[in-house]
This record gives sequence, structure tokens and C-alpha cells, in this order.
Amino acid sequence: MIIVMDHLANDEQINAVLARLEKAGFLIHLSAGVERTIIGAIGDKTHLKDMSLEAMPGVEKVVPILQPYKLASRAFHEEGTIIRVGGLEIGGDTVHVIAGPCAVESRDQLLVTAKTVKQAGATLLRGGAFKPRTSPYAFQGLEEEGLKLLAEAREATGLLIVTEVMDVRTLPMVAEYADILQIGARNMQNFFLLREMAKVDKPVLLKRGSSATFEEWLMAAEYIMAGGNYNVILCERGIRSFENYTRNTLDLSAVPVVKHLSHLPVIVDPSHATGRWRFVPAMSKAALAAGADGLIIEVHPNPPEALCDGPQSLTPDNFCSLMSNLKQLAAVLGRKLP
Ligand code: PEP
Ligand code: MN
Repeated sequence: MIIVMDHLANDEQINAVLARLEKAGFLIHLSAGVERTIIGAIGDKTHLKDMSLEAMPGVEKVVPILQPYKLASRAFHEEGTIIRVGGLEIGGDTVHVIAGPCAVESRDQLLVTAKTVKQAGATLLRGGAFKPRTSPYAFQGLEEEGLKLLAEAREATGLLIVTEVMDVRTLPMVAEYADILQIGARNMQNFFLLREMAKVDKPVLLKRGSSATFEEWLMAAEYIMAGGNYNVILCERGIRSFENYTRNTLDLSAVPVVKHLSHLPVIVDPSHATGRWRFVPAMSKAALAAGADGLIIEVHPNPPEALCDGPQSLTPDNFCSLMSNLKQLAAVLGRKLP
């Protein structure tokens, strides 16, 4: 449930409510908003017995959260959450573009891409060092060598690093190098991994599973938040449908729907959603128009030679022209690109 404090409530009144909830065994998450303080209390309401919280001084109302996700719900945090990382704000007026290759392949490939996307206006660099490949015979990533190259690219360009963590064993290593940790679609319901993400002091980019409902996706975010990491960015990357011309079907409704249900920032991955570079610009623009807080786009200096996801990767030239279109579009939408 949520205890909405009156906008005039003082610290003493807030502390009295907290003390009562703690005594009754509730897990407490405090959200001090601009207007008022909201207390999220998770636990068994029968423990409150007949003590009426609503009668306590300073309490405006007590609202049950009907959704199974609590901390991720909009009811818990009326304003949209802004995630601050390395001087950037994700979820604010500025739309951030994360760009880079599907996989880190070599020093040259990564540095050339990083410099190009930085110049075009991207603020974060993507690149997988551990790749979740459908085939065990496909390129699996450079692992720690790839992470070192990402760190070198950050040093050279100032771009922040987004990279995927695939399992609990390699999480400490990936967390040492990354600025934002990506949980891939295939791991969205790897609950042990989600619980570990809760203990890391880094934002998590949580991709939607390819057949996950909004509720399942938000429950995955709840796992991370319940363990204490509130910095979750949701990423729509297309879902499975009967259509197979595109790799997945981009569910653009995810942006307004999830923003309605949740306060977390939502970004869109048009590359994995379409699987074809030709359609990436149109879906990037559509995502921005739908209200996305950012995009994650695959860019490769030589897509035909890419070890992973070449068909959906933009060339540097195509990426640059997309970025200039996105800047104009953002202005019309009352947002901006850095
Ligand atoms: C990726 O971003 O490279 C990736 C594997 O994405 P997804 O988990 O969405 O398939
Ligand atoms: Mn990819």
C-alpha cells in the first residue's frame, strides 16, 4: 500500500508513520517528492490490526496498490523517475541515444564506431562482450578483453558504457567496467540474476523478454527494485508475433502503456525489433514520437563483415543522418538531444 502524506506533514509525523509500519513488519520505501512524501509499505496488512493509519496526523490517504508490482508502479512515484549516471539524466527532457556495435569485435572496430557515434551526438556506447547467441557455434564475444576495449573507448570519447551481463558468475567483472548493465531479453526472467542486479550500484537497462507481457516485464523490474536498486531503465526491443518479415514486432504501445503503469524511463531498441537496418530510422523516429526517453541502436563500420547482427546495423553515415533527423524531431516534441 501507499501512504500519501499531507503536503504540510512534518518530519515528526512522517517518522511516527514509519515507526508504526516498521513495528508491524512492513518493508518501507520512502519517496520524497517535490509536492509531498509518499511511503511505500510492502507486507501483510493483517499485521496492522485495527490501527488505522488514516487517522494518524499528517496522513492524507492510504491507497492500496492493486498491481502486483509495487515499487515499479506509477502509484508509488507520481513523477517520472530520472536516472542520473555519469553526469547524464535519463528520463528527463533530454533524449539519449546509445549506439555501437552488437558485439565488440576488435580495438579498431570499436574505437572507430565510438568516435563516429560520439560525433553524431550519442552519449552512450553499446557493445556486447558476452553475447547471448542462439547457436553455440556463433561468435560468443571477447569477454574480458571486450570489456577492456569498452573502457578504452570510454577513455577516448567520454561516452558511457552499456554492456550486457549474462550471468551471476561474470556480473562482478562486467560491473567493474560498465556504467549501465544490460539484462538481455533472454534473461528478463532469470530471477537469480535479477536479485543480484539489486545489489549492484549501477543502473540496469532491462530489456523486455520476447514474449513477456507488460506485467511480467514490470515484475522483473520489481525484483531489482525490491532488493534496493531503483535505477532501472526499461527497454522495448520487439516481441514475437506471427510476422516473420521483421525479426520481431516492435510494440510501440509499450512506450505510452508502460509510462502510464510505471514511473521508470522507457527506451526503444529499433535494431533488434526490426532486424533490418532499412527500417531502423523510421522506427527510431516513431519511438521518439511515442514518448521514448532514449534509443539503443546498433552501428557497425562495415555491417556486411559484422560478426553479429550485421543486417540490422546502421553504417556510420546512415547513423549520422538519422541523428540529425532525430534532433529536428525532438525539438518539435518539446524534447532535445544533447
Ligand atoms: C543486444 O542488445 O545485443 C541483444 C542481444 O539484445 P536482446 O537481448 O534484446 O535480444
Ligand atoms: Mn545485437
